[in-house]
Amino acid sequence: MGLPEPDLNLPCANSGLGNYLWSDPPKEYKWADCVHCGLCLEACPTYEQLGQEQHSPRGRVHLIKSVAEGKLKVNEAFADPVFQCLDCRACTTACPANVDVGGLIEEARGQVRQALPLTGWKALTSKFFLETLFPHHKRLEAAGGLLKFYQKIGLQKVVRKTGLIHMMPEHLVEMEAIMPKIKSSVRKKYKNVNIIKAKGNTQHQVAMLTGCIMDVMFSDVNEATINVLTRNGNDVLIPKKQTCCGALHVHAGDREMGRKLAKQNIEAFERTDKVIVNAAGCGCMLKEYPELFHEEPEWYVRAQEFSAKVEDISKYLHDTGYEIPKAELKTRITYHDACHLAHGQGIRDEPRDLLLHIPGVEMVHMANADRCCGSAGIYNLTHPEMASAVLESKMANVPEDVEMISMGNPGCMLQMAAGVQKYGRNQRVVHTVQLLDWAYQKEDRQGGKSDGTK
Ligand code: SF4
Ligand code: SF4
Repeated sequence: MGLPEPDLNLPCANSGLGNYLWSDPPKEYKWADCVHCGLCLEACPTYEQLGQEQHSPRGRVHLIKSVAEGKLKVNEAFADPVFQCLDCRACTTACPANVDVGGLIEEARGQVRQALPLTGWKALTSKFFLETLFPHHKRLEAAGGLLKFYQKIGLQKVVRKTGLIHMMPEHLVEMEAIMPKIKSSVRKKYKNVNIIKAKGNTQHQVAMLTGCIMDVMFSDVNEATINVLTRNGNDVLIPKKQTCCGALHVHAGDREMGRKLAKQNIEAFERTDKVIVNAAGCGCMLKEYPELFHEEPEWYVRAQEFSAKVEDISKYLHDTGYEIPKAELKTRITYHDACHLAHGQGIRDEPRDLLLHIPGVEMVHMANADRCCGSAGIYNLTHPEMASAVLESKMANVPEDVEMISMGNPGCMLQMAAGVQKYGRNQRVVHTVQLLDWAYQKEDRQGGKSDGTK
């Protein structure tokens, strides 16, 4: 396929700016509009917890700018506020000048990781997960198989009952307690299928990002996504060469690995017109691929072309139309806005609208629904205390009288499930698309056929 001519007038790359000594530093045009008004402070979960300027969006922007002006160095004191940030983007929503604090933070982390490379067990753990495991779906499938075996033979119960589990750090114990039942990945299930055909007439053809952890821990959500897409006239393609989106790498400051994965995905989806994503963090990353290529003009253009094709499942269904189920689910639910869906992609009404169109679903408002839950990629593993404090605030806003909490991001699903467990709540945590799929399945069991479309 022919590529457009590279746009060589890219936003300034600023290589070698002030005390940023490596390529791809924070971009000046991103902080230039900050007028230090402080309207972002109240939106920031870390500022709420710590009350310190350097842990606020305004403080972080000031620090990032100060390094570029040569007033500060990229050292431990700079790294702390940069990595304490949840990259939740709530500040950008609150900011009248639309300052891209999350983008600046990610670029600053890239500089920190080069100035202060990880050492010891942190380096080993990071390399194992980010380089050896996540980008390789066959290894992930093998890891999923081990987890499945651990659950199936009852070892999980033994580890819990004997107290062996308490040899792990507390936050990992909390995570283990809410580990979903592992099922086969959809990539494995459809490995010999080129296109999963629409039920009935084909109206569209879409490709689907299956994700890395998503397809191990939440393959049932991927399955529900495929069911809902095919039910609504979509042929679904699962490109075999796709890989992890790279969000976890970029959040951790490994932008080089992020670029490598981005290039692989851009090539894997090159022949498709629409890329459907059901994980908000991955979708946001895919849409922001151009940000990784300010210094590679040809890839910048290819990334722009690619990101224009990316769509979250809830917005895609909302925009193209979907069959309204006839069966009633009869349940009270509340909705949590994943940061990278609401703040990162501006998608708020579409998932709510989708839920409201399921007969029998009663929506209960959650206060501060778009406040971060503390998941933030692997933040709950790297900063367990802050993640726990943020989760406590979040859970205080979850209405008591609901049966389910719906959302559109797997990281949030794990974190919210940990919150439900920790605070003795009894809500079920679900992905929005699962509810629609369950309503369709119930309708089919009842032999009904919806004639309503949206
Ligand atoms: S980031 Fe935006 S809201 Fe925050 S201080 Fe700067 S201009 Fe004001
Ligand atoms: S991205 Fe979130 S945690 Fe980071 S500065 Fe903005 S509001 Fe605070």
